[in-house]
Amino acid sequence: MKKELICINCPMGCHLTVTWEEGGEPSVTGNTCKRGEIYGIQEMKEPRRTITCLMKLADREEPLSVKTQAPVPKKLIFSCLNQIYATHPSAPVHEGDVVVEDLCGLGISVVATRNVL
Ligand code: SF4
Repeated sequence: MKKELICINCPMGCHLTVTWEEGGEPSVTGNTCKRGEIYGIQEMKEPRRTITCLMKLADREEPLSVKTQAPVPKKLIFSCLNQIYATHPSAPVHEGDVVVEDLCGLGISVVATRNVL
């Protein structure tokens, strides 16, 4: 099998070709660096994405922008968003504060990306 991808790890956007045989390991061509190879293989095995979104605070009208500290499996993005949207921390919140721990049992935290004081 063969799949064409664009690496999203940096602005170069290398065009990757991932090929693999049934039960075998994928191989990647078109990458300029090792990150592209890792990305191409991960996209075939278990694609992941970093979540960035807005959370409602318990005591403020303005929303809080947040992101996951690491990419989460794509298949769990909606479950992760449900947990984030159901959580309403109170101000003050500082950039880098953990507002959700162990998101969906993945061991990944959600952190604030700005201050709401
Ligand atoms: S393969 Fe490397 S150089 Fe190319 S887009 Fe990905 S990270 Fe950037």
